[in-house]
Amino acid sequence: MDLKKYIREIQDYPIEGINFKDITTLLKDEKAFRQVVEEISSYFANKGITKIVSLESRGFIVGGAVAYCINAGFVPIRKKGKLPSKTVKESYELEYGTDTIEMHEDALSEDDVVLIHDDLLATGGTALAALKLVQQMNVKKVYFSFICDLKFIENGNKDILSQYETHSLVEY
Ligand code: 5GP
Repeated sequence: MDLKKYIREIQDYPIEGINFKDITTLLKDEKAFRQVVEEISSYFANKGITKIVSLESRGFIVGGAVAYCINAGFVPIRKKGKLPSKTVKESYELEYGTDTIEMHEDALSEDDVVLIHDDLLATGGTALAALKLVQQMNVKKVYFSFICDLKFIENGNKDILSQYETHSLVEY
């Protein structure tokens, strides 16, 4: 099944000039959704992953399902102010201004092998901020997983992320 066909493209969303990849059209199809979860799960099944770390909010949907399939725990990264206990924080640049993400400070330990999952990799700013949060916990190893990778965007973030084993299903 060609998963790209299930991803709807919305011109000029959320701002003019952006061609937004809408994965809700993929998620609502039971076969496409299953294929996404199964392909990611089978790729990472034998890598000793103990925790899936996912990003609010689209990352949670497939991240949670993959955690269940590969028998790993699930750790949410959320926007500032949403997590109830003590957190570690990381700020990153957006096109206009900055954003801050947080993870509970006791969410990971030195024994963890982590898969960071998000729905889409664009500039890599979000993924790099997630990596910095995870690295504060001195985990054993980090992998990345995305449904979509906007390969046509090349920058310094992507150079750093390329040092980590990364799996993506649909490339643009
Ligand atoms: P980046 O930080 O790599 O520039 O952007 C990736 C983050 O923004 C991800 O958390 C992703 O959910 C969101 N994002 C940016 N562009 C798109 C898009 O076209 N489609 C979807 N589904 N998410 C996007």
